[in-house]
Amino acid sequence: MTHHPPKKKDIFDAVIDYVQYLQTEDTASAEVSVERLTAFRQALSSNRSGGGGSAPASGGGLAGVAARVAACRKCPLGQTRTNTVPGQGSATPEIMFVGEGPGADEDAQGLAFVGRAGQLLTKIIAAMGMTRDEVFIGNIVKCRPPGNRVPSPEEMEACLPYLHEQIDLLKPKVIICLGATAVRGLFGGDLPGITKIRGQWRSYQGIDTMPTYHPAFLLRNPPAKRDVWNDMKEVLRKLGRSVPEPKGKD
Ligand code: SF4
Repeated sequence: MTHHPPKKKDIFDAVIDYVQYLQTEDTASAEVSVERLTAFRQALSSNRSGGGGSAPASGGGLAGVAARVAACRKCPLGQTRTNTVPGQGSATPEIMFVGEGPGADEDAQGLAFVGRAGQLLTKIIAAMGMTRDEVFIGNIVKCRPPGNRVPSPEEMEACLPYLHEQIDLLKPKVIICLGATAVRGLFGGDLPGITKIRGQWRSYQGIDTMPTYHPAFLLRNPPAKRDVWNDMKEVLRKLGRSVPEPKGKD
């Protein structure tokens, strides 16, 4: 049996990539703290184990985006986060979910939609006949706004290039916008409220995009689950998938 020791060269390459990246970000001297390297390692490993699917583990691709997010301090949210949350899932998804930003659980774990709202999202995905590994789940901002406040327009603007890169790499057939902030992030602030526009197809950079309610809203307003399920059925029809009958009444 062959035992493969850790590849030190890969580790050094990753650290060198990281330091070079910091230097290109107007960082005159790169602060290579344990915290930053740990965040970087976490970003790489989350991309290896579902965070980036088959994307390369360093350099470009989803892992490259995650690495740059891990080092990012472009907006004030970078000062208060515990972990960055670049998003995770399939590297070749038919569906990309886009939420608002990480909450406390996501900030603690570095993973998107893992708290109560995330568990409800998992149920919605299962009701669609899919698993979380088959879709990609991300957010408009990659760092938690303190107290779960709505990210400011400036914070969203600073972070959106990462989402754009992810969309370019993932090439989803459908984007599902979860909640008003996600809609505002992708389409600007001139649209009517989410209650008016949910369920109506829009186009985001040529990709069919379905706005619907955020799962956190559904936790507060269970009757709205019916609307979200109707929206998800539209998505399944658009993808040419069969529409399963949801089990149970929720
Ligand atoms: S929220 Fe986005 S732009 Fe702001 S520090 Fe985090 S990764 Fe950077």
